[in-house]
Amino acid sequence: MSEEPTRRGVPLHTKIMMGLLLGAAAGVTCNILWHDTPQLEWFTNNVASPVGNIFLRMLFMVVVPLVFTSLALGVASLGDIRRVGRIGVRTLGFFLATTALAATIGLTLVNIVRPGEALDPAVRAELLEEYSGEAGEKVAASQVTGFGINTFVNIVPRNPVAAAADGDMLGLIFFSLIFGIALMLIAPERAAPVLGVLEGISDAVMVLIGFAMKIAPIGVFGLIFAVTAQFGFEVLKSLALYVVMVLTGLIIHQFGVMAILAKLIAGVNPVEFYRRIRELMITAFSTSSSNATIPTTMRTAEEKFGVPKSIAGFVVPLGATMNMNGTALFEGMTVLFLAQVFGVQLDLFTQLIVIGMSVITALGAAGVPSGSIPLLVMVLIMVGVPGEGIGLILGVDRILDMSRTVPNVTGDLLTSIFIAKREGYDLETAGGSERELA
Ligand code: ASP
Repeated sequence: MSEEPTRRGVPLHTKIMMGLLLGAAAGVTCNILWHDTPQLEWFTNNVASPVGNIFLRMLFMVVVPLVFTSLALGVASLGDIRRVGRIGVRTLGFFLATTALAATIGLTLVNIVRPGEALDPAVRAELLEEYSGEAGEKVAASQVTGFGINTFVNIVPRNPVAAAADGDMLGLIFFSLIFGIALMLIAPERAAPVLGVLEGISDAVMVLIGFAMKIAPIGVFGLIFAVTAQFGFEVLKSLALYVVMVLTGLIIHQFGVMAILAKLIAGVNPVEFYRRIRELMITAFSTSSSNATIPTTMRTAEEKFGVPKSIAGFVVPLGATMNMNGTALFEGMTVLFLAQVFGVQLDLFTQLIVIGMSVITALGAAGVPSGSIPLLVMVLIMVGVPGEGIGLILGVDRILDMSRTVPNVTGDLLTSIFIAKREGYDLETAGGSERELA
């Protein structure tokens, strides 16, 4: 993460990039030469995946203490409930606006290119058959996750420890937020020791993230190798137009919209912006998880853009769960693509509903690999596309998931910069410290 050269003189970010490229090259080569051989399967299951999973688990391991301490401390140090409310509303507004924009880009592209109409019916039948089991599971999962009044009730956890243990991020976030507010309301001398402990934990967690990032190059290698070595490139070929469309949409959003926003909000030119966020992008891409990337997003916000801890601690965990630009873009495109494949006509009004539902489900999707799929099935069924149709794209979802997670986390970072600016902080360009103007 840091710019400092490591002992052998190669900067860490270069090593992580090398891990990514070597992992992809080795994985694709092995896929071509030894696809479906027991030796490759053995190597993937016993060497590459374990190495990748250790890195992934190191990141996940710090998420609960990191989210709890940063949110509670972030809120408590804002010092005033009205300020928390104002920041909360602005954060949510920024999330919604950028997510809706992303979904609109997705829908516009699919309306222009219409990749669903070009899909060969024989390929369609084959894919539906091949992925029918998995698709059935996703449809069943979508019924469990169903959207309704309980979605809101469930945000309040019965038991914060259980919420943390079950990976219920919204429950954990809710508890951390009101715990921070409570700390703000009790006598300062009673709050001080608790805040001291939380600060100590938060510092220690940052050191743990540093450890995780030290093994990132090899971890990223393992994760990417495991995906590419086992990937069904045949499926990719038959869905090439759809995949290219989704990737194009994501690239437009990540490198067009975000570059403009970075310039407008942070005053940073695109080359410099992407240079500063390369570890962030690689971590999101290789882990496919906004949650696993929270530690890196926070460090990037604080160290590379000078966002104060209190703001990053508040915005980033919220964003990892609620702000998913890439996911909304992917969902909008996929609903329309599958509607085209199944010959379901979606008029303008229904397409607007698709945009709205893509935004809402992106808010509700968990920041874990394929976290949005059950919710996507729900939207499909809502607009009259068979839920099992999801089977068509499951074979390529991993690569799309990796790719959409990148704009998801970049959006979280940008929101934290936007909020910090709006709160009057004078952001350092790099290695920033906390400085307040007002
Ligand atoms: N993997 C995505 C994330 O963590 C969620 C999804 O789109 O499935 O941001």
